[in-house]
Amino acid sequence: MEKSDSGREELIQEIAGQKKELPELEADANSGDQLEDMALSDIIDIGMIKSIMEKFYQLTGMTGAVLDLSGRVLVAIGWQDICMKFHRINPETKKNCLESDTILTQGVEAGTYKAYKCKNNLWDIVTPLFIDGKHVGNVFFGQFFYADEETDIDLFRQQANRYGFDQEEYLEALAKVPHFRREDVQIGIEFYANLAKVFSQLSVRNYQKTKMLEERNKALEIIEQKNMELRRSNKELEQFAYVASHDLQEPLRMVSSYTQLLERRYAEKLDQDAKDFIGFAVDGATRMQQLINDLLDYSRITTRGKEFKECDANLIVKQAIINLQMSIEESKAVISCDPLPRVKADSSQLERIFQNMIENAIKFKSSKTPKIKIGVSDNGNEWIFAIKDNGIGIEDSYKDRIFVIFQRLHSRKDHPGTGIGLAICKRAVQRHNGRIWFESKMGEGSTFYFSLPK
Ligand code: ADP
Repeated sequence: MEKSDSGREELIQEIAGQKKELPELEADANSGDQLEDMALSDIIDIGMIKSIMEKFYQLTGMTGAVLDLSGRVLVAIGWQDICMKFHRINPETKKNCLESDTILTQGVEAGTYKAYKCKNNLWDIVTPLFIDGKHVGNVFFGQFFYADEETDIDLFRQQANRYGFDQEEYLEALAKVPHFRREDVQIGIEFYANLAKVFSQLSVRNYQKTKMLEERNKALEIIEQKNMELRRSNKELEQFAYVASHDLQEPLRMVSSYTQLLERRYAEKLDQDAKDFIGFAVDGATRMQQLINDLLDYSRITTRGKEFKECDANLIVKQAIINLQMSIEESKAVISCDPLPRVKADSSQLERIFQNMIENAIKFKSSKTPKIKIGVSDNGNEWIFAIKDNGIGIEDSYKDRIFVIFQRLHSRKDHPGTGIGLAICKRAVQRHNGRIWFESKMGEGSTFYFSLPK
């Protein structure tokens, strides 16, 4: 690190209290105000910076530090006793330190450095830390004297007297302050300026990552909030369906019983038209009662659902078949069932699913004798149940409609029903975290499937 005298002089000129361009460094010229109010300590990797600075200190004896713009020390490596035990302790000299750390470092642009004597008369070099185009802190190294400078012991003696330091201890600490050659200082400057740039780049990445995480978390929060709203509104709707259908039953009973009473009491006085009209009214009220009962049934799938328990699907299907005995006999339906597994379910809802599906398979039979086959397949984490019939079949275009409440594809005259059966199945299957669907060919038959997680 030999330098000619004139070269050294030049260096002295450059360093002493001036800014110097470091040609290979440049600012990360970006928007600048995106950092908003994030703390520098949240953005930079303090652990990594500390470990690099420590190694550099061990090699060179040059102290180092990273401070934010308010003078908060984030990293401090190898600081001198004269600073730590005296200058940064005494309130007045501490004020000097803070002023040196903040005010004296102002106006240093990215890619430049500034050498200055701190207000307690030690040398400091500062190079700014820019993140995303914004000056967020400074990297320092300092607390030294130049080797070619005579230490002005008197000046420090005066400082000891002025601030009430123990003179002997203070001068001992002064003696420990290192003396560096200017060319070594220059190497230190370049090392730290480059380091500042690397920190900046890494920090931008950290910052962007943090920002992305923040945005992701914000989005997740919004989704969670929307989910909560949806759950609440679903619950309210369920409550409404339940209360409305429950409360509607009573006035409806009144309508139907009084119209029937009217018919009985005044039969002789009424002509045939009036009797027909009363008949329509009673019929309407009965149908409405049925719809309300169905609605209640539908809302009870969630409001009155029972705990899931392990049960034998064979027994459940057996019970569903017993419930349908009359229509099975009437239609002469032939039902076969593969051996079924044990499942974890609300057994009465599972029975309802099978019963509705078997009932439909009979109800929507073709001219052939109904043949119904119940099967199951193992799909890894779920069981897939299938109820296959040889009935009239369903047009593909009705795929989405038939699971919707009160949706029917046939007239009441041809096939009685309200259109609640499959909606109840879907709701019950969904309550079990399963899926429901069907495959069908017009005139050949349909297979309804539903899955149950294991
Ligand atoms: P409902 O049986 O009371 O009409 P569902 O919700 O059970 O109500 O069924 C809705 C509609 O889906 C039925 O009206 C019918 O048109 C059609 N559907 C259901 N199951 C079958 C089936 N196995 N074969 C043919 N059509 C069916």
